[in-house]
Amino acid sequence: MRGLDCDVLIIGGGIAGLSLASALAPFAAVVLVESEPTLGYHTSSRSARQLIPSYGPAPVQDLTRRTLDLLADVQAATGLALTAPRSFMLVGSESDVAAKAHGSMRQLSHAEALRLGPQLRPEAFTAAAIDTDCVGADTDLLLEYHRRRAGDDGVIISTSAPVTAARFDGTTWTVRAGRRSIGAGVVVNAAGAWADGVARLCGVAPQHLLPYRRTAAIVAAANAPAPGSPMIAAADDSFYYRPDPDGMLISPSETELAEPGDARPRLGDVDRLVTRLGACTTLGITAVRRAWTGLRTQRDSGLPVVGFDPAQPGFFWLAGQGGYGFQTSSGIAELAVSLLADVDPEDLGADPARLGAAAEALRPA
Ligand SMILES: Cc1cc2nc3c(=O)[nH]c(=O)nc-3n(C[C@H](O)[C@H](O)[C@H](O)COP(=O)(O)OP(=O)(O)OC[C@H]3O[C@@H](n4cnc5c(N)ncnc54)[C@H](O)[C@@H]3O)c2cc1C
Repeated sequence: MRGLDCDVLIIGGGIAGLSLASALAPFAAVVLVESEPTLGYHTSSRSARQLIPSYGPAPVQDLTRRTLDLLADVQAATGLALTAPRSFMLVGSESDVAAKAHGSMRQLSHAEALRLGPQLRPEAFTAAAIDTDCVGADTDLLLEYHRRRAGDDGVIISTSAPVTAARFDGTTWTVRAGRRSIGAGVVVNAAGAWADGVARLCGVAPQHLLPYRRTAAIVAAANAPAPGSPMIAAADDSFYYRPDPDGMLISPSETELAEPGDARPRLGDVDRLVTRLGACTTLGITAVRRAWTGLRTQRDSGLPVVGFDPAQPGFFWLAGQGGYGFQTSSGIAELAVSLLADVDPEDLGADPARLGAAAEALRPA
């Protein structure tokens, strides 16, 4: 077995693990291991690619705004087109829209909503609200940006390297990952739907992280929204859709408990969604080009879990990002770096009070 030593071993090569690897690399010797032959294979390649600052609990909204700022800095410095403006509009009954329209959302009149979503049937909703501070993200490019930046700063990334055993001797972890034995001062659990399983494998109590299925599909439609149109979501969580370079993206917005694994769409789920969209819109979906399912993993509180485990020294949680993993990624990575490398937040360009509040809200139970 080949040996390797590092300060920090990150388990999981999705957006959580990769964004941390690239942010932490200047401060520590980092190794990242991923079970699959390719990075980002699980939930991180299956998202709707939208970053919505009004979405989620208050700490998530705050981390999303910080992520948008950090990504804008990256875009300005590199010229990479990581994000582009794309509004998010909620439609539904007065009470459903009122319950969800917080943060940077503002109410829209029925006529304004129909102008922005001309495919909506007028009788299908009575209230609407919009967040114009949102962006669509090129998530493949973002994953690749983090992979490359991490590699350039010396992070060793090992794929086809599932962690199968781990032991802590009081100061150092010895972790078996594929054919390698890795020594590390700190283990970071960025294992997505498998995060509680990885914790158990390390002898750490779980955080009660539960994976929930969500399906999406790319479809062709006779009356598809024009490029640049908002993403439109039903406030009762029964669908969303948005324009896509390959046609149109649709989702039934389901939140169904699942087991960790390679989730697949179920027969009938997309057909039922097409029928539902036919009742609420004049989109005229003609063909389903491809469909996929991913797992959104979260705690009951809906908040990610980020920080050192309270009972196990050297074990750091970076999990439970639910439906917010991309939109919070850079903000969470910044928080994690401040905790892992004990860096002064001001040296990271971060507001210490804001980071302190986020650390408190997201700390492991
Ligand atoms: C349909 C859908 C739409 C979504 N839309 C959005 C959106 O618009 N905006 C947004 O911000 N978020 C969205 N999300 C959520 C977002 O995709 C997730 O929050 C994010 O991808 C989670 O990233 P992760 O790195 O935690 O998990 P993952 O991408 O699943 O990565 C975890 C990795 O850990 C690896 N791993 C597990 N166990 C081990 C082990 N023992 N050893 C080594 N490696 C291991 C896995 O193989 C996996 O690659 C959506 C999700 C879905 C399903």
